[in-house]
Amino acid sequence: MQITHSKALFEKAKRYIPGGVNSPVRAFRAVGGDPIFIKRADGAFIYDEDDNTYIELINSWGPMILGHNHPMIKEAIVRALEFGTSYGAPTAKEVEIAELIASMVPSVEKVRMVNSGTEATMSAIRVARGYTGRDKFIKMEGHYHGHGDSFLISAGSGAITMGNPDSPGVTKGTAKDTLLAPYNDLEAIERLVAANKDEIAALILEPVPGNMGLVLPKEGYLQGLRNICTREGIVLIFDEVMTGFRLAKGGAQELFGVIPDMTTLGKIIGGGLPVGAYGGKKEIMEFVSPAGPVYQAGTLSGNPIAMAAGLTMLKHLNQNPEVYTTLNNIGDKLVKGFQTSLNKLGMNYTINHLGSMYSLFFTDQAVFDFESAKKSDTVRFGKYFQNMLKRGIYLAPSQYESLFLSTALTDDLVEKIIKANEESLKESF
Ligand code: PLP
Repeated sequence: MQITHSKALFEKAKRYIPGGVNSPVRAFRAVGGDPIFIKRADGAFIYDEDDNTYIELINSWGPMILGHNHPMIKEAIVRALEFGTSYGAPTAKEVEIAELIASMVPSVEKVRMVNSGTEATMSAIRVARGYTGRDKFIKMEGHYHGHGDSFLISAGSGAITMGNPDSPGVTKGTAKDTLLAPYNDLEAIERLVAANKDEIAALILEPVPGNMGLVLPKEGYLQGLRNICTREGIVLIFDEVMTGFRLAKGGAQELFGVIPDMTTLGKIIGGGLPVGAYGGKKEIMEFVSPAGPVYQAGTLSGNPIAMAAGLTMLKHLNQNPEVYTTLNNIGDKLVKGFQTSLNKLGMNYTINHLGSMYSLFFTDQAVFDFESAKKSDTVRFGKYFQNMLKRGIYLAPSQYESLFLSTALTDDLVEKIIKANEESLKESF
């Protein structure tokens, strides 16, 4: 496998872009080697600047649930381009997508479109603070909610991968209002709530976290959080930037039957274009300007091209529930194959899996929170990653990420991935 063009591009990129990448998770820092530079992507495949082909298991970190370059999404974008690229004024498509999101996501009565998941979570916390008149909020260790200051404390994803879960630049004043709790531990929440009585505006979490690798909620955990938040007047926020429109058309809240007060969305909602959204109960969302006093705005929010892509994606998912059956079957087949290989090789590594998300952790312990995720052998994961890459499988370059499957994965491709996985595991010792 030749990677000369990618190498040359990376050398040049490092001269002009910090670390040579526009988002830290794209660097191969944790797995060794240089990132590959992508020229194009189509269906289940991504192609690098040296014309190597890879089967996609990242899918742009989640958005490409139907695979890359889907003709339906492409056509919607091309059609929208005929009408201009940005107006900074209301459009019919924004009304249509808001109505559709409200019909798909159980907690959403009103919704505001933004440009990224980061904007969505930052804004949701501000609204929760404005609504409750309280300053503090609870965040789970190892969860990632984008790069807003108050979230970069014990943060997952690239923050832990790069070794900076607590980012310099976040002031002590900001950090003191972020209360940390371990995931999957209701008693820890009860203790925090008792120690900060009537001071907590919100509890935000990834209901099914994917940013410390994929971790599943224990039985009753999400409902337990719901009960505590209702009792204490705390706004429960599900960050469904990853899980929204992926685990079910109504996200994890639909799947687990636990309805938060607010929800943040991103990734799939833009069909591959930069879109985020936050929404929730009418009485809370009425606090958002200009309906209410909490300010939040955006020059490109509700951008017509992005809305065209997002609307096409969401309509498709809404009208074709069999997409989720297909995705779940692909996930089940893949994970079953992985498990067979692990058994055959006498390895006890942990696979966490739900629908079209999974993580293979290089530890034989159960992974249910940040501490247990950190027990993984990241050096061995790095070797495995490189072994998969040279076999043409494109994985997230970190143990602390979920993989995302798309409907473009055929049975043949699933078999190829299973085979490459077994060979790569064997070679990673
Ligand atoms: N929330 C979650 C759960 C995420 O996974 C991410 C990004 O991966 C974000 C928020 C931030 O979204 P964005 O990268 O679009 O700012």
